Amino acid sequence: MRVVIAQMKHETNTFSPVPTPLARFAHGRAAPYQGAEVYEAFKGTGTAIGAFIDLAERAGAQAEFPIAGNAAPSGPVEDAAYETMAGRILEAVTRGCDAVLLDLHGAMVTQSFEDGEGELLRRIRQVAPQAPIAVALDMHTNLFPAMAQHATVIAGYQTYPHLDMYETGLRAGRPVLALLEGKARPALAFGHRPMLPHVMRQSSLDAPNRDIQARARNMEKDGALCASFFVGFPHADIPYAGSSAVVVTDGDPQKARRFSDELLDMAWRAREQFIYRVDPLERSLARARQMQGGPIVLLDHYDNCASGGTMDTMAVLGGILDAGMEDVCAFAVCDSQAVEQMKRAGEGARVTIPLGGKTEMPALGLKGVPRTVAGNVRRICNGLYRNEGPMARGELMDMGPSAVLDTGKVEIAVISRHVEPHDIAAFRTLGMDPAKKRYVMLKSRVHWRAGLGKLAKAVVECAGTGVCTSDYSQLKFSRVRRPIFPLDPDAHPA
Ligand SMILES: [Zn+2]
Repeated sequence: MRVVIAQMKHETNTFSPVPTPLARFAHGRAAPYQGAEVYEAFKGTGTAIGAFIDLAERAGAQAEFPIAGNAAPSGPVEDAAYETMAGRILEAVTRGCDAVLLDLHGAMVTQSFEDGEGELLRRIRQVAPQAPIAVALDMHTNLFPAMAQHATVIAGYQTYPHLDMYETGLRAGRPVLALLEGKARPALAFGHRPMLPHVMRQSSLDAPNRDIQARARNMEKDGALCASFFVGFPHADIPYAGSSAVVVTDGDPQKARRFSDELLDMAWRAREQFIYRVDPLERSLARARQMQGGPIVLLDHYDNCASGGTMDTMAVLGGILDAGMEDVCAFAVCDSQAVEQMKRAGEGARVTIPLGGKTEMPALGLKGVPRTVAGNVRRICNGLYRNEGPMARGELMDMGPSAVLDTGKVEIAVISRHVEPHDIAAFRTLGMDPAKKRYVMLKSRVHWRAGLGKLAKAVVECAGTGVCTSDYSQLKFSRVRRPIFPLDPDAHPA
């Protein structure tokens, strides 16, 4: 048996000015992993592609690894990057295979295609009409019909923070291998409801998504091969942004349809609970200053790089500095120029530098506004670390050249590549200990809870600026299907 195993992951924020060339998929290297490098990089990791590798080995299959690319969220993927990655996958499939196992995100928009994954699957189907295709997807999938029509099996994460990447790979891959052995006949149903759940209300640790995902897991105990509810990614102005469901059963399309509709109806009934109400920044910081104990997480949720944020807006950090708050650590400002200046000055040096605010955000009509910050340069490092987990355990991460700027009151991580703070190893690499701080400012929305949730005594959500704005009225939607809730409060399923 011969299988093609590949990864091509990107969550595209169509409002983000951050470019997405091939190098962004390459974990800081010149090109994405290929061939044996893929095996080396992902064997034994808590990722979907790690699960595919294990499944193939257990089945005694010969595996080919044309490419593994995973880029931090940003603007539309450059055509050249997409064609390189899709082209390698297509070449491997064209050489002949019994199955294709794909670790995708599900929200990839390219310069030419609003549905990057659907286009990839359509091309695979052209050269391998019969080969079963297993697809592992992120919960933030924006599901175009082409994806569900061309895939044999789709499984999405059932946790947010995403702690079940490996299990999702198993859920997607097993039914396809069972099909090859004549032991299963996957039947897939999918659907949508016209709603854009707010990212700040999507965590599976809280209702309503906790209950919807629990029901999906129960469906898998009740005969579904895999059941997935996708919250969707709203910062993408494309027709199929928003929530969807995919259920795969063993030879029972009616049951798959019934289960899929049930998940979608649960979400639709809870649509009001998926709305997020924004508090003004001044009020949030004032509330944080009155709180006792710590660490108190100050969440800069408008500038989350894992939703395409530039990770360099300074509104929240500026508010913290203006208020004179003490015993703070902040992760992170992505500013390679600032890191260079700090490196030139050297560890221990005193510097005054323009920090952050280097990126314009034309989709929101915002200019970058740097903030002049004075402090001591602490710890300079190459920014490489391996995730301790529980999220994407074992995966090598790359913050690029990094340094810590210590103002005396605030320790600021300054990094060169976008990495969301979801793993304690990111802090350790920089010599920072958030557990000992009174306040921890994070440019994150939900994933921080994976590695840091346990140490937070309280959380204060801080509305800054950025292309992950939690205020939908700041985003100009023109391509998303309408009506859609809550942009159109009277939206209703067709
Ligand atoms: Zn996600």
